[in-house]
Amino acid sequence: MAIQVIKDKCVGCGACVGACPFSAITMKDGKAEIGSACTACSVCVAKCPVQAIEKTADDDVVDLSAYKHIWVFAEQRNGKLMNVALELIGEGHRLAREISDDTKVYAVLIGDGIKNLADECYAYGADGVILIEDPLLKNFTTDGYTKVIYDAIQEFKPEIVLYGATHIGRDLAPRIAARCNTGLTADCTRLDVKVSSYIDFAKKNTTLDTSTLDPNDPSTGIKQTRPAFGGNLMATIICPRTRPQMSTVRPGVMSKREPVQGATGELIEYKPAIADADIRTKVVEIVKSAKELVSLTDADIIVSGGRGVGGPEGFDIIKQLADKVGGVVGSSRACVDNGWIDHSHQVGQTGTTVKPKIYFACGISGAIQHLAGMQNSDIIVAINKDPDAPIFEVADYGIVGDLFKVIPEIIAEWDNAEALFEASEK
Ligand SMILES: Cc1cc2nc3c(=O)[nH]c(=O)nc-3n(C[C@H](O)[C@H](O)[C@H](O)COP(=O)(O)OP(=O)(O)OC[C@H]3O[C@@H](n4cnc5c(N)ncnc54)[C@H](O)[C@@H]3O)c2cc1C
Repeated sequence: MAIQVIKDKCVGCGACVGACPFSAITMKDGKAEIGSACTACSVCVAKCPVQAIEKTADDDVVDLSAYKHIWVFAEQRNGKLMNVALELIGEGHRLAREISDDTKVYAVLIGDGIKNLADECYAYGADGVILIEDPLLKNFTTDGYTKVIYDAIQEFKPEIVLYGATHIGRDLAPRIAARCNTGLTADCTRLDVKVSSYIDFAKKNTTLDTSTLDPNDPSTGIKQTRPAFGGNLMATIICPRTRPQMSTVRPGVMSKREPVQGATGELIEYKPAIADADIRTKVVEIVKSAKELVSLTDADIIVSGGRGVGGPEGFDIIKQLADKVGGVVGSSRACVDNGWIDHSHQVGQTGTTVKPKIYFACGISGAIQHLAGMQNSDIIVAINKDPDAPIFEVADYGIVGDLFKVIPEIIAEWDNAEALFEASEK
């Protein structure tokens, strides 16, 4: 759909300029002009007192019903599947079952010599695997992966494609979305299925003109929810006119399914049409970062420090507790911004999303952007000297007190418990 001004009719009253929710209309030579920010929402069409603005039909309306099944980009590095890929296979499995009995979830495995990973994909819920192997795909390159995934999408027409919001997923997904001329919602925290059509949802929640959507459209759609405006509200985004629908989801947001050992599925070996000339970059050498890597997403226990630790040396006590309980050190953004600790430790909206069994929040106030990254933890223990700190609203156990007094007591109690346990074993 597009919006156009019928210049002969336009009287230059400017009613449309003020009405446009996207500030996409300007006046030029006394006539309204539609700019690139236009989303074809049609508010201006209704507002124009002289019917000088109209909506034109799209040249290439996408046949939504031609698209079926869910794909998950099964990111692997050095022959090991990323956790987020397994989480998304589980989520894809759930969505597929909600859409229809014959909707399947496929893991898209790309690389060279990685066929053995298919079994792991089946075990975590994939109904099938689309295997794309070639020596040129051994290492990730944006050009190479984009080309083969785009070609495969053109051939198989999946309805939904999910990517982990890793460095690679964030690089790849927008390029593929642009090539497919479809939408992409980044950093989703929730995906829901709306079977049949979006019409009711769109009518209630958006300014979209729903008159062109077919109420009998058999295709399905997903509602993609993500934080917006600095995490202060959750936005639900739909992709009603183009396919595939694409989302990235951060590691740790979705849960893996319990693996079913020995599970099998359909294997589609897709021969990619890829040549050296398709890839404009060459991987000369892979140099791993020398700094200590923190794996927050895999940790069962995280002990995080906030501004309340008072300075970089305040993380010593956080580390002591983390070492004692077998956890890793996390942090709020305030400490990262102050240069007290590296960004790789940051939990939250602009850090890592985590879901450990136990999350200790020490001297962290509980800002919404921090909560966005940890509130799905199984158990949250908050230590804060302010009894009104918002962190206590999400905490399962709250300790009001100075962390420099409370943490040594927890460590001492832990030691006592260990000693008692050892004694009872003898
Ligand atoms: C777009 C955007 C993205 C953001 N992304 C993130 C993100 O990813 N992660 C993140 O964490 N933040 C993020 N923030 C920042 C966020 O809004 C907060 O500013 C930040 O989380 C505050 O960190 P804090 O809780 O450590 O500090 P504060 O809010 O200053 O809280 C410190 C707490 O420590 C307590 N305290 C002080 N001394 C002690 C003591 N001795 N013992 C016990 N308690 C004590 C205080 O009572 C207070 O509650 C983002 C902000 C924006 C705008």
